[in-house]
Amino acid sequence: MRDFLIAGNWKMNGSNATNDVLVSNIVDGIPNGEGFKLLVCPPFPYLISIASQVSNSAISLGAQNVSEHESGAFTGETSAAMLKELGCEYVIVGHSERRAIFGETSEQVAAKYIAAQKAGITPILCVGETLEEREAGATEEVVIGQLDAILDAAGVDSFASAVIAYEPVWAIGTGVTATPGQAQDVHRRIRMRLVKHNSDLADSIQILYGGSMKGENASGLLAMPDIDGGLIGGASLKADDFLAIAAAAAVAGQKS
Ligand code: PEP
Repeated sequence: MRDFLIAGNWKMNGSNATNDVLVSNIVDGIPNGEGFKLLVCPPFPYLISIASQVSNSAISLGAQNVSEHESGAFTGETSAAMLKELGCEYVIVGHSERRAIFGETSEQVAAKYIAAQKAGITPILCVGETLEEREAGATEEVVIGQLDAILDAAGVDSFASAVIAYEPVWAIGTGVTATPGQAQDVHRRIRMRLVKHNSDLADSIQILYGGSMKGENASGLLAMPDIDGGLIGGASLKADDFLAIAAAAAVAGQKS
């Protein structure tokens, strides 16, 4: 059985005042039901205060990035051990904004994934193709290539404590959502790639969809057999929008 994970990636948004309202509204509005988990990933400076705000709630805490290095002369970086100490259970690695804007390579993403796991944090590995790649018929090659980089560096067993997020780059922040069928097709290919290595792990790993997921389209996406939740940007910044997606997960129940 796979629970849903509904994860909010706040990106570089928020302030003490707005975060306070956002988190308390989410805490107050968590839908009844089982088989789903909520996660918020605020910017680094707010992790401590939000850790205390969510400490007695069913909401988990994650970070948006992590250094691949353990410690030392890496000005401006944050290690996985530091995130762990602040209460992070998850960290996003390989988000397309980090790959495209900050030039992160698949090798670096793999090093971050390994660093997170070494510190006891679950990496949320993002994979996804650009519109040009999709139009060129290269979706599978790109997505599976990004997955294989992790399989090569960390091994299939590492997926026992990891989450994958399929995020088509053309759907992120654009308002254009992949159809349930388009998303399911890629999720299935990701799971089948893992089946080749270890079918039990492939069965149990959560594969999230990310890309303009909202309350209005969440039910259709979450109804797909291989979609186990969402990584949500824009709609995670308003409690009502985030809770509408959580409500869709609560209604959908677990995946068997
Ligand atoms: C994201 O950045 O991970 C994302 C999915 O953003 P949005 O929901 O805004 O498309």
